[in-house]
Amino acid sequence: MAQALMTRQADVVVVGSGPGGATVARQLARAGEKVVLLEMGRDYRNEFYYGTHLGALIYDDNRGLLFTEEGLNIIRPIMTGGATNLFTGSATRPPAWLKERYKVDIDDYVEETIKELDIRPLPDELLGEASKRIMEAAISLGYKWEPLMKFITPARAARFDCGAKCMLGCRCGAKWTANEYVDDAVAAGCELITEAKVDSLIIEDKQAVGVRGKIRKRTPFEIRADVVVMAAGGIGTPLIMQNSGFFDAGNGLAVDTTTMVYGVSKYKGNASEPPMTVAYTDDENGYMLSVLIDPWLSYPLIMFAKGIRYPFTWLNYTRTMAIMIKVKDEVSGGITVDGKISKPTTAQDRYRLNHASIVSREILIKAGCDPDSIFVGPLRGTHPCATVRIGEMLDTNLHAEVKNLYVCDASSFPEALDRPPVLTIIALAKRLSDHLLKTVFRRKASRRVPAAPAEG
Ligand SMILES: Cc1cc2nc3c(=O)[nH]c(=O)nc-3n(C[C@H](O)[C@H](O)[C@H](O)COP(=O)(O)OP(=O)(O)OC[C@H]3O[C@@H](n4cnc5c(N)ncnc54)[C@H](O)[C@@H]3O)c2cc1C
Repeated sequence: MAQALMTRQADVVVVGSGPGGATVARQLARAGEKVVLLEMGRDYRNEFYYGTHLGALIYDDNRGLLFTEEGLNIIRPIMTGGATNLFTGSATRPPAWLKERYKVDIDDYVEETIKELDIRPLPDELLGEASKRIMEAAISLGYKWEPLMKFITPARAARFDCGAKCMLGCRCGAKWTANEYVDDAVAAGCELITEAKVDSLIIEDKQAVGVRGKIRKRTPFEIRADVVVMAAGGIGTPLIMQNSGFFDAGNGLAVDTTTMVYGVSKYKGNASEPPMTVAYTDDENGYMLSVLIDPWLSYPLIMFAKGIRYPFTWLNYTRTMAIMIKVKDEVSGGITVDGKISKPTTAQDRYRLNHASIVSREILIKAGCDPDSIFVGPLRGTHPCATVRIGEMLDTNLHAEVKNLYVCDASSFPEALDRPPVLTIIALAKRLSDHLLKTVFRRKASRRVPAAPAEG
């Protein structure tokens, strides 16, 4: 039997509840706008399997086995809070070129967010012994490694228990996720509808007037609003836009192409340490290095992508030190309307990956790893982005070519960031919210409810 059409009328409809969508929904709901937030996944935080390998199988797109046509593994959590559930909680300020080349100035919003969420490096005693050994080895070789800022506040956890497993979901409570902004939005009156997959935009007279889709693949819905904010992530947003007649969406993609360089030493490795506590950025050669190893069960599975003998390196897992490389990859390939992802590695990407691998190998040897044990892992795409780019499909205010349509997530990046993007996304979303309040909704600044003070 056909299901009845569910309808809503709102000031703003936001699609996707990752850091982009959650922030816009929270800011606008707190300012008194009627917001509907649509999320394709659901809230898994209270499930017993949240933060376990079983959980990751349940909430990752394609059970964690999402690959590009070229074989890069892409992790895409489908759930409230988006990929921040699985992120390592690392934060960096946006690259200077965002302001210089694209005139996108979000500095004030970045600093406000750092203050509000108390984003800072972990205390020295929590950086991890192996991570510190890698940092010290690198510094002695002339590479300027330093502690990385984190969305992790140890004092929030009853028992701080941060390690590689945080990439399955945080169980100890120390890590901030965009779920907290979703909660704030709902507390301020936003209507959150989960398991609501948006299929396309509703466009009338060259204006975006809403979105349509289905709840639990059954109940059709149409949400109409004065403003539509797309925040379904670097893969989700271009797919919805393609379904709505935007032919350039998803034409080209960046992923901060990622790999790990592993080595075995006589010391304890970094698996039981918080991931990405220390890092190094080489802007000239286009990459970032930090410390990270996959959770214990993911490690051998991922190694199958490298070759049949590599899963056996798991026997040395507890003594393995790993340096993660993220390169600033060129925009290439793209996403097709049937959901296929192509991400060819260009000659420049390969050069950067190899440059970073040589440096990582040098550091691991200096840190005590056996040179014969060192190898480079398979390639992955950890930050799908740059699919609806500022400067091409969006103006500097994130406005698309159709009236009342905005894009506020990683897809808006004009180029790969090659660094943790969440702080940049939150700042973009706060700036967009203020822009909408000043222009579309013309609310007085005095109506705005100030952000809640940081916890901890
Ligand atoms: C393992 C891992 C570790 C990471 N570590 C870090 C880190 O330490 N620091 C950092 O800054 N970044 C990190 N990242 C990257 C970061 O988490 C993402 O870049 C960021 O969350 C992207 O935000 P977004 O708002 O663009 O999209 P997402 O977070 O992907 O959110 C998009 C949301 O939209 C929903 N959606 C998709 N399609 C639809 C649809 N059709 N209808 C309705 N809803 C839809 C999705 O379910 C999702 O909830 C990491 C990522 C991974 C996978």
